[in-house]
Formats: sequence, C-alpha cells, structure tokens
Amino acid sequence: MSTIGQVHSIQSLGTVDGPGLRLVVFLQGCNLRCKCCHNPDTWEMLADKQFTAEEIVEKAKKYREYFGEKGGITLSGGEPILQAEFCYEIFKLCHENGINTCLDTSGSVLNDNVKKLLTETDRVLLDIKYTNNNDYIENVGCSLEKPLEFLAYLNENKIPTTIRQVIIPTINDGEENIEKLNEIVEKYTCIDKVELLPFKKICQTKYDSMKIEFPFGCLDTPTKETMNKLNKLLK
Ligand code: SF4
Repeated sequence: MSTIGQVHSIQSLGTVDGPGLRLVVFLQGCNLRCKCCHNPDTWEMLADKQFTAEEIVEKAKKYREYFGEKGGITLSGGEPILQAEFCYEIFKLCHENGINTCLDTSGSVLNDNVKKLLTETDRVLLDIKYTNNNDYIENVGCSLEKPLEFLAYLNENKIPTTIRQVIIPTINDGEENIEKLNEIVEKYTCIDKVELLPFKKICQTKYDSMKIEFPFGCLDTPTKETMNKLNKLLK
C-alpha cells in the first residue's frame, strides 16, 4: 500500500530550488525551529493536504516537457526527510519515469530510511546554516555536527550536492564566516555549487497570522553590496 504524505503546498514550475525548471513539493513537518525560518506554517506534522506518491508523480509527469535535461522534481519543506519513506516512493517512481530528483534538506536526520531515500536522489540541496556550533544550537536547535555528518555521507556516496546558506546581518554576514564555509566546502568533492541567499522578511505576515514572534524579525535584509562582497569571497 502507498504511503500517505503530508503536503503543505506544490509549486508548479520553480526556478530556485535545484537545476532547471522544477515541480517543487513542500512537505509538512519540521523537527527544527530556525530563528530565520521563512515557512513556520510547515512546522506541524499534520497537513490539510494528503497525497500518495503516485498522485505527486502524476503531477510531475504533466510538466515533464518543461523540465528539459536539467529540471525535474524537488522535495522541500518543512523537512522532507521526516517523511523519508514517502519521499523514497516519489523519487523511485520519478526515476521509473525518467524524471530527475532533488532533495532540499537541513540534513539533521540520517537514519536507514533516509539512507534508502538517498539511493534515489540525484542531487541534494543541503543547508549549512552557520559555520559554528554555538550559532547552530542557539538559532537552529541542533548541532553543526548533524549536517556535517550528513555531508560526509553524501560525499562517501558521491551524491552531487549544492550547499546553501542564508546570509543574516549581524549573525553570519562577516568575512570570517565565508572563510569557514570555504574550509568546510573544500573537504568534500561531492559539492559542486555553493549558494548564498539573502535573508528576507516576507514571511513576517505568516508569523503575524500564527500569532507567534518572528525571532529574527528585527534584523535587516543584507544589502546587494554585502551579498556581492561575500559571493566574491567564495572559492
Ligand atoms: S529547517 Fe527549514 S522549515 Fe525547518 S525551521 Fe529551519 S528553516 Fe524552517
């Protein structure tokens, strides 16, 4: 019997979550509580929408002509690996239908189900949210060791990986952070791309409607100059 997945929302042709044009499926549920989170409405495990893997892949098949060589499906969230079995079923079916698969994750869980899911994953978008453990503990809710363990596993299994980091003024917008990120990246040959993303506050309205505080709501969005400067420091 097919696993039933908890789905927050589906974006038909996304351009920022993996290569090419992609069907991006945002899964419900997250084990972390990042202070910069853009999607607090995905935190709870139960969603209003439930789908089987077959239903998701049927949707992906409708967009196949737009995917081209690079595009495909991306599972994001929330944290998709909390529903690893459901994700595995989707990716396996995608591969049977010639559709490229990409997983967007914080890499905080690495169990047998997640390892099985990675056997059907063409690319991982892995967040390295900060480069020091204190920031991880304080602003994410897990240790830096977790995504690094995940990254080591991706490297061992030669799974192409994009590292992503949200740049947040006063927290990780210094040159030292990028130097540390470079030191991490150069250790793993599976990494072929690093993306720095500017912190944005467009999600403030979600926090307001949920009547909870946006912990980083008082911080600014980084300037274009800062983003350019930090991007130039990336190796
Ligand atoms: S891992 Fe993603 S969805 Fe979960 S709290 Fe952090 S930013 Fe939000």
